[in-house]
Amino acid sequence: MPMNSFQPHGSSQAEFRPQRSVEKNSLTRADLDTIPRYVAGKNPSDVARESGVPQAVKLASNEVPFGPLPGVVEAVAEAVAQTHRYPDPGVVALRGRLGERYGVAPDRLVSGCGSVALAEHIVRAAVLPGDEVLYSWRSFEAYPIITTSCGGTSVRVANTDDHAHDLDAMAAAVTDRTRVAIVCTPNNPTGPAVPREDLERFLDRVGPDVLVVIDEAYREFVRDPAVPDGLDVARNRPNVVVLRTMSKAWGLAGIRVGWMAADPQVAEAVRKVVTPFSVNHVAQAAALAALDAEDEMKRRVDIVVAERSRVHAAVRALRSDVPDTQANFVWLPLGDDALDFAAGCEKRGVIVRPFAGDGVRVTIGTPAENDMFLSAASELLA
Ligand SMILES: *Cc1c(COP(=O)(O)O)cnc(C)c1O
Repeated sequence: MPMNSFQPHGSSQAEFRPQRSVEKNSLTRADLDTIPRYVAGKNPSDVARESGVPQAVKLASNEVPFGPLPGVVEAVAEAVAQTHRYPDPGVVALRGRLGERYGVAPDRLVSGCGSVALAEHIVRAAVLPGDEVLYSWRSFEAYPIITTSCGGTSVRVANTDDHAHDLDAMAAAVTDRTRVAIVCTPNNPTGPAVPREDLERFLDRVGPDVLVVIDEAYREFVRDPAVPDGLDVARNRPNVVVLRTMSKAWGLAGIRVGWMAADPQVAEAVRKVVTPFSVNHVAQAAALAALDAEDEMKRRVDIVVAERSRVHAAVRALRSDVPDTQANFVWLPLGDDALDFAAGCEKRGVIVRPFAGDGVRVTIGTPAENDMFLSAASELLA
C-alpha cells in the first residue's frame, strides 16, 4: 500500500533531526525546511571518551574493516604529486577499465563523487517539480533528501513484513507522474535483496517510461543465486540504470568514487548535470589501483560474508524476527527499543546505527569487533 508520504521527519528522530526553529530563511528555498539532514555515523574516539571505554568500534557505516586494498595508498601518494593539475574530466582511464571489467561500453558509464551523488544526478536529470520518485521504505536515507532537493515528490511503499521491497505494491503505486523508481538491492538498512523473477515482473509492469534505478551498493556481498546482477538486467532495458560504488567492498569510502551504467542517452543526460571534475585525480588513481586488487577484495569480502553468517545466526537466536541479509550488515527490527539498544551498545564501546522507532543496523566488522557486538547484544536482548 503506497504511503503517499511527505513526512521526512516521520518515524525517526535520530536520523531526521528536528529543525531548530520554524523561522523561514528567505534567502533559500522554503521547502528545504522539510528535508531531513543526513546523519553520518559517530566517531569511535568520541564514543570511547563519552562511554569511558578504552576503545570503541564503529559498526555504523557499512565500511569494510580491513583498511585500503594493497596498492591504493601508493597510487594515492603518487597521484597527489599532480595536485596542481585538473583531473581528467572524462575519467577516461577509469571508465575504460570499468567497461572492460564489467562488460559495459564506456559510453554507458558515468562516474561520480560516490554513487549517492550519482543518484542525485539521475533524479535531477529526470524529475521536474511535482514529478514523483517512488521507493520502498524503510530504505536508504539519502532518497528522500535527494528527491525533495530536486523538487520531486516522494512516494514511499512500505516494506513487506520480512523487511523486503514489496515490488507488486510498488508497481501498483506508479502513476503518470512517476519519473523515477528506486530499487535498493540488497536494501539498506534492512538487508534483503530482490530475486530475479520479482525484479523482471516489476520491470514488465512498470513499463519503459519510468527510469528504474537499481542501487547495488552491496552487490559484491550477495551470495543468493536467485538475486540477479543488475548489469545483466539493464542490458536489454534502456530504462534501467544500475548504481555501483567503490565505497563498500572496494574499501574507498573516504575517497568517493561511484559509477553507474545506463542507456547511452540516459548516461549523456546525467553527464550534463554532473558537477564538472567531480571525481578528482587522486580518487581516479585510487579506484584504478583498487580494481587491480580485485582478488584481495574478494578474499576480504569472503571473510565478511562468513562473519555475516555467524553474526546473523547469533542475532536470530536472540530475536527470531531478524530478516535475511545479503549485505555487510544485519537489521534488528527493535521498534521503539532501537535508540535504547544503540545507547546500550555505545556504553559497551560498539557504535551501531539506530533508526528511531524502527530498528538498528549493525555492520559486519572483524571477528573481534563482531564478538564485541554479540556480547553487547546478548546482554541487551537477554
Ligand atoms: C553506501 C550506499 C551508497 C553509496 O555510497 P557512496 O559512498 O556515495 O558511493 C549508495 N546506496 C546505498 C543504498 C548505500 O548504502
